[in-house]
Amino acid sequence: MQEKKTENSGEKKAVKCPYEKKCGGCSYLGMSYGEQLKKKEGFLKKTLKGIVPVKGMIGMENPYHYRNKVNSAFARKKDGTIISGIYEQGTHKVVPVDQCLLEDLRADAIIRDIRNLLKSFKITIYNEDSGYGLLRHVMVRTGFTSGEVLVVLVCASPIFPSKNNFVKALRKLHPEITTIVLNVNERNTSMVLGKRDIVLFGRGYIEDELCGCTFRISPQSFYQVNPVQTKLLYEKAISLAGLTGKERILDAYCGIGTIGLIASKEAREVISVELNPDAVRDAIANAKRNRIQNVRFYQGDAGEFMVKLADEGEKVDVVFMDPPRAGSDEAFLSSVVRLKPQKVVYVSCNPETLARDLKYLQKHGYEAKEAYGYDMFAWADHVETVCLLSRRK
Ligand code: SAH
Repeated sequence: MQEKKTENSGEKKAVKCPYEKKCGGCSYLGMSYGEQLKKKEGFLKKTLKGIVPVKGMIGMENPYHYRNKVNSAFARKKDGTIISGIYEQGTHKVVPVDQCLLEDLRADAIIRDIRNLLKSFKITIYNEDSGYGLLRHVMVRTGFTSGEVLVVLVCASPIFPSKNNFVKALRKLHPEITTIVLNVNERNTSMVLGKRDIVLFGRGYIEDELCGCTFRISPQSFYQVNPVQTKLLYEKAISLAGLTGKERILDAYCGIGTIGLIASKEAREVISVELNPDAVRDAIANAKRNRIQNVRFYQGDAGEFMVKLADEGEKVDVVFMDPPRAGSDEAFLSSVVRLKPQKVVYVSCNPETLARDLKYLQKHGYEAKEAYGYDMFAWADHVETVCLLSRRK
């Protein structure tokens, strides 16, 4: 029997956002939160129909200001006023935003104050057309449990005038800031961050706690943006695996190591693979920081890595996989089939590629048992899913 569950469906009413029309980031503002969850669950069920039963859509108690990472683009208007905010949908025109419904309020306050400091420090704003000017973006990351705050000043040049005084002035306004990094992005690109980070103050990264582990989060590494829901999602992912302490786990697309490190306490051994070298560096530091010794990290393409493991005849009991929006690839999935883990726990940020990959695994000996939606992006239209697959006997 299919169990039906819509938790925390909430009475939160539709909300008004002054930036709604221009920003376009939130497509569900006209709906109550309960309606949003129903709609997301419906979409998930439709996309996964005939593939796997969807057993619930877990929503937030308080679906506001949940984003722990805030990016703000800076621009200078013709009259000289400096504005900061979000790009108008599909353009590079900055919509001025002082406070956003989704963003951490501390982050928004810091960005507003940086904007106000710029003039007295004579810091120029980068102009995409002419290539002149310095400041392009400000990114703020906050630790939900730790309260630590990272500010990244994304600039077109490594030379920031009177940077020490600027740092001092900013810290005076916001003593909660624990580290400040200057990120150099010299290229004419729509990527926010450049490759080079120069630490101006503090450790250059923040730490946060999640499911009993402490994680280091650098400017460049991926970390889920909704910490409240991430905790629930990871707990579910790990409980679906039904670990007994004897398993050899593979954590693919591991980012800074989160899922594998949390699961390592209930497993014999974990092998983790991730493409982004910065994330792998953080992951290794995270293992040390948490005194975890049964996890190994590999940097590289998850598909290629899996092919190698399968070629070498390695054994794996459980695979956790959490690929980006594009989903996984045939190299990876076909190697899963060859490695024959008893269970695969698939965490997905895109139901469509999840459906495609599940179909592949179903065709090759796996049964998709159950799936749960987690609302990581209230007011916006993304859906996160965790799904359990078992090898057919
Ligand atoms: N499991 C982590 C990260 C998930 S996001 C967490 O929950 O925090 C997806 C991750 O896949 C990103 O860190 C990204 O850098 C990584 N990635 C993208 N393509 C990859 C590939 N081909 N091989 C391995 N990792 C990849």
